Amino acid sequence: MIFTEDDFRKPTLISEDGRPVPLGFVYCVGRNYAEHVAEMGNRRPDQPLVFFKPTGAVCQECGGFQIPEYSRNVHHEVELVIVIGKAGRRIAEGEAQAHIAGSAVGLDMTLRDVQSREVQAGAPWSVSKGFDGSCPLSRISWLSDLGRLTRYSFFLEKNGRLVQRGDTSQMIYPIPYLVSYISQYFTFQPGDLLMTGTPAGVGPVSRGDVLRFGGESIEPVTVDVQ
Ligand code: ZN
Repeated sequence: MIFTEDDFRKPTLISEDGRPVPLGFVYCVGRNYAEHVAEMGNRRPDQPLVFFKPTGAVCQECGGFQIPEYSRNVHHEVELVIVIGKAGRRIAEGEAQAHIAGSAVGLDMTLRDVQSREVQAGAPWSVSKGFDGSCPLSRISWLSDLGRLTRYSFFLEKNGRLVQRGDTSQMIYPIPYLVSYISQYFTFQPGDLLMTGTPAGVGPVSRGDVLRFGGESIEPVTVDVQ
């Protein structure tokens, strides 16, 4: 027997009122804001571009972000994160609300140099997007109302200067569509996270930078780049 009792304990997240939230799978969507698609010189996708992060990417209240020694070009991407509260597959857009438990704001830290190599090799973005610690996350907010989440503003400051400001009404594929689309292929489980894409303004981070991000009903989070 090589497992210990701890191995059977599920990882959990912290919510704004201290209640634990199970941490499930991390679904991500790329190229979901037209201005960001344009700044990267990419084409607007015909369908949502879905990728994943392992749970080990999620880093809540860990204070620092460690630049991996194998990358020389790390970018910040701030995103609204949806927290799934109820299992479901093939969810209709009109049913999406019933599956949302809360929200958060998180960073989809991206190794652009590694990503270019992956793209050139026709490989998925596994390392560039899913490396350890690549998803600094706020506390989970119980804000789950789609009426508010589809007109939700969030921000990222770098060294005190506003560099990204997002409004979810600008999404190419809105939240109900994303929930419905992803659930055609994957069964959502409680505690799954859905990162909904980044607005324009992505850029590099260096050691010593201080990132601060947040959104409506979210206590801003400060991350020291190390
Ligand atoms: Zn992203």
